[in-house]
Amino acid sequence: MAATVLLVEDERKLRELVRTYLERAGLTVLSTGSGAEALSLAASTAPDLVVLDLGLPDVPGESVASELRAAGPVPILILTARAAQEDRIAGLELGADDYVTKPFSPRELVLRVQAILRRGHHAAGQESASYGNGVLVIDEPRHRLTVRGADVDLTPTEWGILVALASVPGRVYSRFELINRVRGYEFEGYERTIDSHVKNLRRKVEKDPGSPEIVQTVLGGGYRLGIDRDG
Ligand code: CA
Repeated sequence: MAATVLLVEDERKLRELVRTYLERAGLTVLSTGSGAEALSLAASTAPDLVVLDLGLPDVPGESVASELRAAGPVPILILTARAAQEDRIAGLELGADDYVTKPFSPRELVLRVQAILRRGHHAAGQESASYGNGVLVIDEPRHRLTVRGADVDLTPTEWGILVALASVPGRVYSRFELINRVRGYEFEGYERTIDSHVKNLRRKVEKDPGSPEIVQTVLGGGYRLGIDRDG
């Protein structure tokens, strides 16, 4: 069955354009220019993903995002004209799965939507997952990470890498695979760029970044999560 996307955008022309592209990609699209209507549509139709403009005339997009978040684990892709990096991070903290800044290419948007749908991380009833006897707790729907009990902020790329590795603990992921997995999170660069993101990630999650226990290097292979999922 085709996935259903709820598109919330008040600029009619842009809405119609994005709608056309999403439909051409085989998706079913419901659309509205109103935040209030978006919330009632989301409640009545349970879409697989919401594309949400933050600048809406009736309800601030941020409130729509947090109400959607409170109601269930639907993935959200945020559209906004605000380009500052801090706003991007704030968008991800709202629980958004991805963030696209206007002006954007509709084709790019469709790729991002498809990437999120493919990841399928938001299965109903999903809760946070704990690893290494609670050392690491990843709450994907809320985009929250705790390490040894403390909240840790990751960049979108670091988050993407960690979530990819944690999807199958112990499995080795090549740099190329990791790039593919994090592409939805704004990844730019080449395979070796992964190494510098991993270095930063280790600084945030490892007790001793010099001898990592969580994000381990596999010589000639790539990276793996060195701790098991609990329970
Ligand atoms: Ca708008």
